[in-house]
Amino acid sequence: VRVLAGIPRCLLLDQGRAVAEGRPGVVLGSGVLGPLGLRPPDLVALAELAGTAGDDLEDEDALAAGLREAARAGRVPGGSAAPGGAPSVAWEPVRSHPPTGVEVRGVVHRYAGGVEALRGVRLEVPPGQRLAIVGQNGSGKTTLVKHLNGLLRPDAGEVRVGGEPVGDRPVHVLARTVGFSFQDPDDQLFERTVEREVRFGPGNLRLEPAATERLVEAALRSTGLAEHRDVHPHDLGPSDRKLLALAGVLAMDPAVLVLDEPTTGQDGPGVERIGAIVEAYAAAGRTVIAVTHDMGFAAERFDRIVVMREGEVVLDGSPVEVFAPEREATLASAGLAPPVAARIGARLGLGSTPTLRHLFDALRGRRTT
Ligand code: ADP
Repeated sequence: VRVLAGIPRCLLLDQGRAVAEGRPGVVLGSGVLGPLGLRPPDLVALAELAGTAGDDLEDEDALAAGLREAARAGRVPGGSAAPGGAPSVAWEPVRSHPPTGVEVRGVVHRYAGGVEALRGVRLEVPPGQRLAIVGQNGSGKTTLVKHLNGLLRPDAGEVRVGGEPVGDRPVHVLARTVGFSFQDPDDQLFERTVEREVRFGPGNLRLEPAATERLVEAALRSTGLAEHRDVHPHDLGPSDRKLLALAGVLAMDPAVLVLDEPTTGQDGPGVERIGAIVEAYAAAGRTVIAVTHDMGFAAERFDRIVVMREGEVVLDGSPVEVFAPEREATLASAGLAPPVAARIGARLGLGSTPTLRHLFDALRGRRTT
């Protein structure tokens, strides 16, 4: 959405061919993207419904008026017709973990040089939750999650995983429970083939060979990398390298999955796939904690959102709570804007509508929980 704002023309390339050229609302519309198996950005999907896709996408008054008209005419699709097309991912646990949550108790972290990156953060994440941590660059998100697997240690306060203090437990021991996927996959990849890379983690867990096989195959399948198993990781594109780093962590089947900016560098289908993995992993009873800059992704795929500002948590709640119109000023103070569906819902006086599904339901006069 941010990319579209103020862009008068765009050119869509597919396999080296120009497929469409013109206004972004048309080029990125369902008529062009649908046949390619892609879904339009939320702003374009809304503009199509409002009948303003061929006009200036920044004109949110026209968009809101068009949506009101669509609602009056009964043209708003039902919840199930909202975003779809995600690859289906299921996660069948192979290792057995007790339900494992995470507690961060008043954690302070100061880097050498004096930056106080965390200023007494408190956070309790129950087992099975999908938590997204958002905030401007430098707000302390990465510093916080690096405490969960012992990559960083607190200067004050305590971190507990599964009720046990992390204390001085070494990173390689914690890694059996807390899987961590780095922001930059190249910090993580070192093997000669995709399959060897995925096999490395479970190989260190001393599982039964059959269990290792199941995990390797499940991780390759859910990340869509099965057919690239013999490729050298450095011959993969950046988005597949990122998926490979994720596969390496998934293959360890950890109780807690921590993802630092999982959607960076992904195209639409990659974001859909990672979202499906997040949901499938949590549906298997595991805890998922992700740092993300993508508010739409956070609203769609997570059940709780924590907003950080200058080393502190300033908002904490469900997407409906955090992206409510009343929270917009606090969000802005953290340098963030709500997802487009929430902005339009607020403009239409529909309350808090963090996703297209919420917005469509509200336009149809229904409440979404
Ligand atoms: P975010 O993940 O939200 O972008 P970070 O946790 O990376 O934030 O950074 C929080 C603060 O700590 C920033 O001011 C950043 O400059 C500082 N910082 C991060 N890493 C280091 C480091 N290795 N040494 C010194 N300061 C750091």
